[in-house]
Amino acid sequence: VLGSRGLGDVYKRQRILITGGSGFIGSALIRYIINQTQDSVINIDKLTYAANQSALKEVENNPRYAFEQVDICDLKAIESIFEKYQPDVVMHLAAESHVDRSITGAADFIQTNIVGTYTLLEVAKNYWYTLDEAKKSAFRFHHISTDEVYGDLSFSEPAFTEHSPYHPSSPYSASKAASDHLVHAWHRTYGLPVIITNSSNNYGAYQHAEKLIPLMISNAIEGKSLPIYGDGQQIRDWLFVEDHVQALYLVLTKGRVGENYNIGGNCEKTNLEVVKTICQLLEELALNKPNHIKYYEDLMTFVKDRPGHDVRYSLDCSKIHAELGWQPQITFEQGLRQTVKWYLENNR
Ligand code: NAD
Repeated sequence: VLGSRGLGDVYKRQRILITGGSGFIGSALIRYIINQTQDSVINIDKLTYAANQSALKEVENNPRYAFEQVDICDLKAIESIFEKYQPDVVMHLAAESHVDRSITGAADFIQTNIVGTYTLLEVAKNYWYTLDEAKKSAFRFHHISTDEVYGDLSFSEPAFTEHSPYHPSSPYSASKAASDHLVHAWHRTYGLPVIITNSSNNYGAYQHAEKLIPLMISNAIEGKSLPIYGDGQQIRDWLFVEDHVQALYLVLTKGRVGENYNIGGNCEKTNLEVVKTICQLLEELALNKPNHIKYYEDLMTFVKDRPGHDVRYSLDCSKIHAELGWQPQITFEQGLRQTVKWYLENNR
């Protein structure tokens, strides 16, 4: 376990406290930071059903990586983590993240996403007050949020910018919107140096099987039906997770304090298009097709729509492009091909 005098001190690199680092995006972020930088990472995660420690196998023995199983709502435990590791910056990803689960049971979303974020902000603020001037001005509380806080768009409306009003639809997006407001308030009221990023739908390796893309890939591989909500015409903007984590690190290190940055894939697709593309990729890449079907598309089934289902998300990412020079590197075709291949090789 990384002590308070770990490699981070020796190389004068950042000591990054990451919450939710055992989840889909958090684990990709940790692999990126450990493999591409000299920074140290302390991952705190409660290890809910959504966590997947195998996504961290390649970094778990690295001396720049430490893990603590902690609930972000546990104030005392979070205080001891700050005391023990003395982080330079915080990247906050821990959340309940699945819209369908928030509809059938919102309590955990209110607890983790709102109370948990409040708890972290309080501890971070009190810790930040104790830092010397240099560390104080370099400190960041980077809150990772979603484009779903803006609500949805009709098919013809322009994309959301960082100035679009918040208008969340689901218990999930409402809890994330609430947490974004808390983060801004801790900046405005106490001066805590915060940054918020709002990203579109991510996809890639190690995503939990409940989410659209991995669900469709694993059901198709197993010959199960591919349930598509309503008419499948809902539009999402898809972002490859490795593009996202690169943007997160850039914003953390170069972004302006107090600002929001949209991070999108510049890639709007209907759910139906996504499922059809997965089926086409499987026709090409899968070696064994289930016996009872001729084509993977035969498995597609239209099911009753999700209540309050958002029609379309679209993000204007000109700010991060103009200020930090970021844009996604991986096309949807490349990213989805890589993802389908990964699930074929690592089906879980
Ligand atoms: P995920 O559900 O895969 O992972 C969440 C992680 O948080 C899990 O490891 C879980 O164990 C941990 N966690 C949950 N409650 C906790 C608690 N109380 N204390 C400590 N740890 C806890 O989520 P993800 O898809 O990796 O998303 C990460 C963040 O990015 C979330 O804040 C989410 O709102 C945001 N986001 C996700 C997407 C997406 O497409 N996946 C898009 C935009 C924003």
